[in-house]
Amino acid sequence: MVKRVVFDAVNAVLANLCREFRELNSGHVATYIPPLARADPADFGMALTSADGHRYQAGEADKPFTIQSVSKPFVLALALTELGADEVFRRVGVEPSGERFNAISLDPETGRPANPMINAGAIATTALVPAASAEQRFTRILETLGRFAGRSLDVDDEVYRAEAATGDRNIALAHLMRAAGSLAGDPSGVLDVYFRQCAIRVTALDLSVMAATLANGGVNPVTGARVVPEPVTVQVLAVMATCGMYDGSGDWLLRVGLPAKSGVSGGLVAVRPGRSGVGCYSPLLDAAGNPVRAVAALAELSREFGLHLMHNPPSGAPTIIRPGLSDGPDEAAWRQAGGGTAPGDLPAWVAAQGELDFTAAEQLVYALAERLPEVGRGRAVIDLVRVTAVDAAAEGLVRVVLDRLTAMGHRIGFVGDAAVPFSVEGTLLASRSAAVEWARLPS
Ligand code: GLN
Repeated sequence: MVKRVVFDAVNAVLANLCREFRELNSGHVATYIPPLARADPADFGMALTSADGHRYQAGEADKPFTIQSVSKPFVLALALTELGADEVFRRVGVEPSGERFNAISLDPETGRPANPMINAGAIATTALVPAASAEQRFTRILETLGRFAGRSLDVDDEVYRAEAATGDRNIALAHLMRAAGSLAGDPSGVLDVYFRQCAIRVTALDLSVMAATLANGGVNPVTGARVVPEPVTVQVLAVMATCGMYDGSGDWLLRVGLPAKSGVSGGLVAVRPGRSGVGCYSPLLDAAGNPVRAVAALAELSREFGLHLMHNPPSGAPTIIRPGLSDGPDEAAWRQAGGGTAPGDLPAWVAAQGELDFTAAEQLVYALAERLPEVGRGRAVIDLVRVTAVDAAAEGLVRVVLDRLTAMGHRIGFVGDAAVPFSVEGTLLASRSAAVEWARLPS
């Protein structure tokens, strides 16, 4: 199979990272939930799913473990989908707590937890998921996480029971929030759902698909099903970027630069918006409660492949503006069509390609303005033959500029299917040669 070649090449990248960072043996396996203490500290699995749904993996990427706190962004996504951002963020904040995952991070005035990525905020978020009963609330959460993963998930009953039996700190947190008026509903029912949510079983490969669904605007790229609306993914990723790695969030954002979430069993998701999702499993945790090997490997991956979100090379491709007649009809074609070559004879000809967003549209209209005469009436062709998409911001900017230019007496012609929305302000031309003809006509 030819595709095997691609799989081998990308899997090898992950396998190299696994090999390199498996050597890191610092940190500790969590023990406060007794069955988690039995995790094999040698395990390290990594998986990457692209926004096209291609899945790659290395190491123990198929080994099941309990999702723990990595459930938090996905339950937040469910609450945001059901209630909207205003209602959810009225009940739980969005500021990094700067404290450990299980800290009593409640606003002294309102009792509102600092953010949904720490235990207090996550328990409050679970309580917000609309349902008639605790049972139904958990079913909704389990099904939603399953849709993110692209398969139905189950619960590790032993881990659930162990946490329910030993989760005094979380029980205390829920009661404190109840006393402060910041927890909706009965604490024991909510806690039961929260403990079960944390005990949902996943693999690193599942986590990569879940992360890729967030990367892909809420559509699971493997199943093609929409799980949550696109604006919800933006909100969730923003909260993950600032709060997802607990009090290691600043250092993580500096070194890796991706929205992420870790959990106490060693799971981690990292999202490169629009591109891919990574899932990791490595049970050794650092002092902040983040998986040591996953953090180190992601820092390396991010550096090697330029994944850091603050690293955005100047645009150029995919939108290229070529003023003049170099794109499509050349000067010879222009002369052949009877066009004059005196300075005023040549139309301003700007061409774009790829996706037009605000920045590309600004380049396009700037290039156009540069080529139109300062005085008198000019003629311009906007060549959008190679444009594949125009977003609303680009359309708005081009319209405003063209309105003004046509009011000044300039005449604008368009070529290409992407030109259809603009044709009200100008002349829609069927082809580049038709545009040459049009540009040649006396005004
Ligand atoms: N179930 C765990 C707890 O509440 C989740 C914490 C974590 O993964 N950091 O303690």
